Amino acid sequence: MSSSNKRIVILGGGTAGWIAANLMATHWQQQGFEITLVESPDIGIIGVGEGSTPPLRGFMTAIGVQESEWMYECGATYKVGITFKDWSTKPGFSHYFHPFVSQPDEFTAPAFFYNSFLRRKGINLEGHPDHFFLATELARQKLAPVAPDNFPFEINYGYHFDSALLGKFLARVAARKGVKYQQATVNEVVLDGQGNIDYLKSAEGQIIKADFYVDSTGFRSQLLQQALKVPFISCADSLFNDSAVVFPTPQTDNVEVQTIATALKNGWAWTIPLTHRVGNGYVYSARFCSKNDAETEFRQHLGLLDADVEARHLQFKVGRAAEHWAKNCLAVGLSQGFIEPLEATALDMVQETVVRFIEAYNRGNFTDQHRAEFNHRISTRFDAVRDYIVCHYRITSRTDTEYWIENGRNEKISPSLRAILASWVAGKNITDELEKQKLDAYFPNVSWNCLLTGKGLYPLQEQLVQGNEMANKYDVAKLQKFIQGCALNFKPHREQLAVLAQAAPELATL
Ligand SMILES: Cc1cc2nc3c(=O)[nH]c(=O)nc-3n(C[C@H](O)[C@H](O)[C@H](O)COP(=O)(O)OP(=O)(O)OC[C@H]3O[C@@H](n4cnc5c(N)ncnc54)[C@H](O)[C@@H]3O)c2cc1C
Repeated sequence: MSSSNKRIVILGGGTAGWIAANLMATHWQQQGFEITLVESPDIGIIGVGEGSTPPLRGFMTAIGVQESEWMYECGATYKVGITFKDWSTKPGFSHYFHPFVSQPDEFTAPAFFYNSFLRRKGINLEGHPDHFFLATELARQKLAPVAPDNFPFEINYGYHFDSALLGKFLARVAARKGVKYQQATVNEVVLDGQGNIDYLKSAEGQIIKADFYVDSTGFRSQLLQQALKVPFISCADSLFNDSAVVFPTPQTDNVEVQTIATALKNGWAWTIPLTHRVGNGYVYSARFCSKNDAETEFRQHLGLLDADVEARHLQFKVGRAAEHWAKNCLAVGLSQGFIEPLEATALDMVQETVVRFIEAYNRGNFTDQHRAEFNHRISTRFDAVRDYIVCHYRITSRTDTEYWIENGRNEKISPSLRAILASWVAGKNITDELEKQKLDAYFPNVSWNCLLTGKGLYPLQEQLVQGNEMANKYDVAKLQKFIQGCALNFKPHREQLAVLAQAAPELATL
């Protein structure tokens, strides 16, 4: 190890900063790295970001934390996927579920691929994704995805959580791992002769010096974009949303095991179940509706028109930095970029960025030897997520507002997404095209197929013809029975959460 790479300063204590601190401490503390997280006492965290994807489980395992240690404290619930509601006007496709797929789906997914492929060719077969995946059934019955020991298959799931509570929890875990914590608002970044960050200066005149810096300052991107002047590549021409209005509502006993994303007039609203409240937010485009109109529509949607609940309004920008690692600085979280929250991918991007950085930095013996390769890899992932999210909007059949009309005819989509859509419309199997365009770098083939079929991108019902015996290869009713049989192994979500709540008081040491 190069002796000049031992002090790391992480600037910013939002979820991104604390994820970075924990992963870096887990990997490097034993090697003598000194890791300090510096956070402004005056600049708050963004305070949203409550949905996740399955890799967050891997993060918790990597830093040595059990579900029984963190979930109750962070108001966390289980998540098996997302229902998309009212995104399509196609008969029979007003909603669909995007599942986190698991091992038992290996038995049923081939039928989904087969049926949907033939339905695209005009054969009248069941092709709605909601009939083929275990997670869909777990979500329908509100069952926790925690399988008993004798269930012979792996089950994939993510979580919902209170982001402020998760930040506090991760700060404590990081402290146990030896991460130092300092409060300071950095207002000057001083570069050396080679353009590297030399030191940071706080408002009170404190000098903060390290060999390597992590920028987790949120949308400010104080180090990467402001000081090192790494350009920002906007994707606002293909993703119109730039604002959100957020309200909490009370939780009921019957806690959902899914996020619900409901399309509204100028965007979409999330419903995220936590144990102590439900998180709600309306993500919309300020180009198409005012702050007040968005709030009124959202209140109506939630049945809160006359309720005395204060709304929080947020603005955000979509896109990514041209590089995530520049000079002696790595940006993680909102400081490196943000693709809007529709599929809750942001924290996964944080995790992937930090894990791949650790790998590249180690492999290069703590030099920037693998920086270009790392940057390319992370940017490819960002762009793959962007295309998947853009696709949600581009294939909409809604025409009830200018917002949806413009989304549906937007020609400013990437060549890679254009190629996928062309392949779909031509009735081809999109697997090869996804690989060619590197669009399976994040969402797998099955997710793309759920999205395109779930929104009803099929010939019209009246154009479909009955298939012969060969076409009717799969009995969907039998598959459903299998899925329902598997679901018998799972406990109601609220029971599983109660188990975690009971275990929580024993956590005296955390
Ligand atoms: C509307 C919306 C919904 C979202 N939903 C999801 C979701 O469901 N799932 C998901 O994964 N993600 C979601 N995200 C993204 C998610 O919120 C963020 O990725 C996550 O919270 C991490 O934020 P962060 O740590 O990068 O930034 P922040 O939370 O903004 O933290 C920034 C930190 O930097 C510090 N700081 C800033 N400037 C300075 C300075 N000069 N000196 C010292 N300290 C400084 C601040 O004090 C703060 O601690 C959503 C985002 C938005 C906008």
